[in-house]
Amino acid sequence: MTTAETELKKISHFMGATTVPSTSGRSGMVWNPATGQPQAQVAYAGAEEVDAVVAAAKAAWPAWRDTALSRRSEILFRLRELVDQNRRRIAEAITLEHGKTVSDAMGEVARGLECIEFACGIPTLLKGEFSEQVSRGVDVLQIRQAHGVVVGITPFNFPAMVPMWMFPNAIACGNAFILKPSERDPSASLILAELAHRAGVPDGIFSVIQGDRVAVDSLLHHPDVKAISFVGSTPVAKYIYETGTKNGKRVQALGGAKNHMVVLPDADIGMAADAAVSAAFGSAGERCMAISVLVAVDSIADPLIAAIRERMTKIKVGPGLDDTSEMGPLISREHRDRVANYIDSATADGATVTVDGREHPATAGNGFFLGTSLLDNVRPGMSCYDDEIFGPVLSVARVKTYEDALHMINSNPFANGVAIFTRDGGAARQFQTEVEVGMVGVNVPIPVPVAYHSFGGWKSSLFGDLHMYGPEGITFYTRNKVITSRWPDPATSAVNLGFPHAR
Ligand code: NAD
Repeated sequence: MTTAETELKKISHFMGATTVPSTSGRSGMVWNPATGQPQAQVAYAGAEEVDAVVAAAKAAWPAWRDTALSRRSEILFRLRELVDQNRRRIAEAITLEHGKTVSDAMGEVARGLECIEFACGIPTLLKGEFSEQVSRGVDVLQIRQAHGVVVGITPFNFPAMVPMWMFPNAIACGNAFILKPSERDPSASLILAELAHRAGVPDGIFSVIQGDRVAVDSLLHHPDVKAISFVGSTPVAKYIYETGTKNGKRVQALGGAKNHMVVLPDADIGMAADAAVSAAFGSAGERCMAISVLVAVDSIADPLIAAIRERMTKIKVGPGLDDTSEMGPLISREHRDRVANYIDSATADGATVTVDGREHPATAGNGFFLGTSLLDNVRPGMSCYDDEIFGPVLSVARVKTYEDALHMINSNPFANGVAIFTRDGGAARQFQTEVEVGMVGVNVPIPVPVAYHSFGGWKSSLFGDLHMYGPEGITFYTRNKVITSRWPDPATSAVNLGFPHAR
């Protein structure tokens, strides 16, 4: 280890009521993407640390399960206030490690906060059902019960919001929750754990275990882990789903995306261009709901591209902590280079590079910056179309008709989000019926559902049956139990070998 490494801030796990040092001896570097310098070392948990955090969660769980709903709700209300008061602190921690602008990070915190607000209503959300007199003197009671120890494994691109998609509902339902955040920007998770502790969440009910694949595999195979929520890339999501379910766990695993935005010839060009630029380049394109393919129908392509190019020249690329920046750096040098390689491959595949982000002045420094790129004449079969690029690259696919656009989208294996821009209500309604994608925007480029609906894609963008947060989150974090009861007069009791049925 070099002297510089020993001086770096150490980031570790949150267990019990505080952060605890790691014992695994394994760690990784956390970078400042704006400067290109390392800024911290994050612990990578080994199997023993995973065993310890699961054991603590398991021990804490029964008392939490038995805690009154009104008390759980009270703690969540307090957590809501604390997160609200700490918005800026969380946002700055995100910006330092992820690179996105602070205003963007504040938006992320706000959307996470919505999920805490939703979970505050847990007494109502967990109401069961009752049927009186299903047979003579027989009643049926249906309740939802917590699983026990549940786990969340989250990606780098929303280090606060995605954990908040998971843990408020998980703990509100009465589970003990363990978060394994992305090792690339782990600090926001520790702030959330500290605030949960201050709000009154008991020790062991919300823990954070830092790490990489070793920690994930230990959690996937741990017999006391009952359910896993995952958000990340499609290959890892598939692996998590297959391994977790094989080990008897309930799993929801949200994967990657390739989100199309269809612009019909009657759309308002200025509005469509504003939306495309915002949704393609916000957070440097590192959003699972970013627009990455603009499907321009017929005559709108040329004027739309001109309007987009004009807007692209005005985007201020710079460090996220600088209030004038609109787009920050990418998460790592390797990822920036990988994204840049798609610009080369686009040319080789026959697409037209209309704007090349590699030429942006911000790329000259040490930070992981890339300017915005626009690729024209992109088609399925080109790697810039087929792969999730996850960077500030907008591809334009030109098609003749609405049917061509629909066919392209429905043939794509990803199906997270999609948008249509038009002034024709009938066409929009037809599209929302026919498109095979989980989340659809009509003149809305990033249709992330609010917290009281649920979030999830279709096809290769989600493995599992239940979407995340909102009502489906409550379903995911609980198991249904049906109790059939009767209190007959023992004098009326008799042997009856027939199958029970209503009388
Ligand atoms: P990633 O798949 O590399 O990592 C996600 C998590 O999995 C991290 O916690 C990481 O430590 C862990 N992990 C990585 N490789 C692993 C392996 N081989 N075995 C076990 N665990 C592993 O994803 P990322 O790069 O952090 O995030 C970007 C991806 O997440 C993009 O594909 C994006 O589309 C996707 N994403 C999807 C959604 C959604 O809602 N569908 C939301 C946000 C991000």
